[in-house]
Amino acid sequence: MIDLEVPRKFSGLIEHARAMADEVFRPISRKYDLAEHTYPAELDIMAALIDGVSRTGESAGASSVGSVASQSAGRSPGARNGANMSSVLSILETCRGDVGLTLSLPRQGLGNAAIAAVANPEQKTRYAGRWAAMAITEPETGSDSGAIRTTATKDGDHYVLNGEKIYVTAGERAELVVVWATLDRSLGKQAIKSFVVERSNPGMTLVRLEHKLGIRASDTAAFVLTDCRVPAEDLLGDPEIRIEGGFGGAMQTFDNTRPLVAAMGLGLTRACLDRTRELLAEAGVEVDWDRPAHVQSAAAARLIQMEADYESAHLLTLRAAWMADNGQPNSMEASMAKAKAGRTCVNVALACVELCGATGYAERELLEKWARDSKILDIFEGTQQIQLLVVARRLLGMSSTQLK
Ligand SMILES: Cc1cc2nc3c(=O)[nH]c(=O)nc-3n(C[C@H](O)[C@H](O)[C@H](O)COP(=O)(O)OP(=O)(O)OC[C@H]3O[C@@H](n4cnc5c(N)ncnc54)[C@H](O)[C@@H]3O)c2cc1C
Repeated sequence: MIDLEVPRKFSGLIEHARAMADEVFRPISRKYDLAEHTYPAELDIMAALIDGVSRTGESAGASSVGSVASQSAGRSPGARNGANMSSVLSILETCRGDVGLTLSLPRQGLGNAAIAAVANPEQKTRYAGRWAAMAITEPETGSDSGAIRTTATKDGDHYVLNGEKIYVTAGERAELVVVWATLDRSLGKQAIKSFVVERSNPGMTLVRLEHKLGIRASDTAAFVLTDCRVPAEDLLGDPEIRIEGGFGGAMQTFDNTRPLVAAMGLGLTRACLDRTRELLAEAGVEVDWDRPAHVQSAAAARLIQMEADYESAHLLTLRAAWMADNGQPNSMEASMAKAKAGRTCVNVALACVELCGATGYAERELLEKWARDSKILDIFEGTQQIQLLVVARRLLGMSSTQLK
């Protein structure tokens, strides 16, 4: 049974994250949008604070992506709200401040979530406290992550990686990159493993940083791997190729990360709705929540509709995180949440620019930036279309070869 109230034990965490959004992220949001590729040094202080909070055990830490699966592991039976829920709630708040800055928080990378989802206990200890990016996408392969071409060949007590990786969030700034590579392309998805590669590894060369439409505070890197030697103990999880479920470990990453990206979409949607309501109120448009939408102004009716969309995306996201915390298979629910939240944030951000007219389009406000930032949340960790494909497969009981 799901209780739809936000658990009281997370109220301190939410307050911390909200304060970070309002007092740290918002004031520097425009600065790092304009200064693309400049490292937001202010975040070092935030990372130290988050580490301090985590060490004292006060909470899982605001937006502590890396703690997601590690804290879920070994859970006791019975309903609980754990690290997935706390991460979703805190990320929602920090992304209300700024999505790109949230993605730039040291030691909170998507690679940390991958490590938490797949690593064995010894590896989790070894990589603890280090910042990891995640590299799946290649020039020839994005949505179809099972078709990656980067190879990993065993050579004594090392693997040798060769290939190309593009669009790696935090790829320049992170200390580690979790690289997906195949041990044997002829064996398909089951042969795909993830490897933790030190950024300083001479076999992995950063060749480019992308200039982007939005989330410009976040760096996005491209790498070439040329005879990149990685110690065998840095293959995450099980080194064997198992025909049943070999890809499951790597794909499990998405079950944990998709609700987090949905939460990013919720945060951005909340920011747009709150600021638009303020601006419309200044222009004399007030929403009367006790009266039907059709008897109010068109702008008020639109806001009511968008709040309903926000609420449904919010509930889907909480459900997906709750299921992850309680060890329930959540691939479909994670994709539903990501699809709804991604679509909602793009639609709402553009509608808010429209409702606020020239003010919404000008750089004096952050609405135009949020409209640019929103699109990525409907793309990475699986596009809108891919999420709907996952949902359709689950509903119809079809495999990825039956429904492409
Ligand atoms: C700013 C940014 C940051 C990123 N960060 C990371 C990162 O940290 N790590 C990482 O590995 N990747 C990252 N990515 C890559 C991202 O995950 C991919 O862009 C995404 O998975 C889509 O892949 P693609 O761009 O190759 O598009 P394609 O897969 O070529 O898809 C193109 C279009 O076709 C649609 N499509 C594809 N297949 C189907 C289908 N079967 N049915 C219906 N429609 C379909 C897609 O939805 C999309 O609209 C990032 C991308 C960006 C832009």
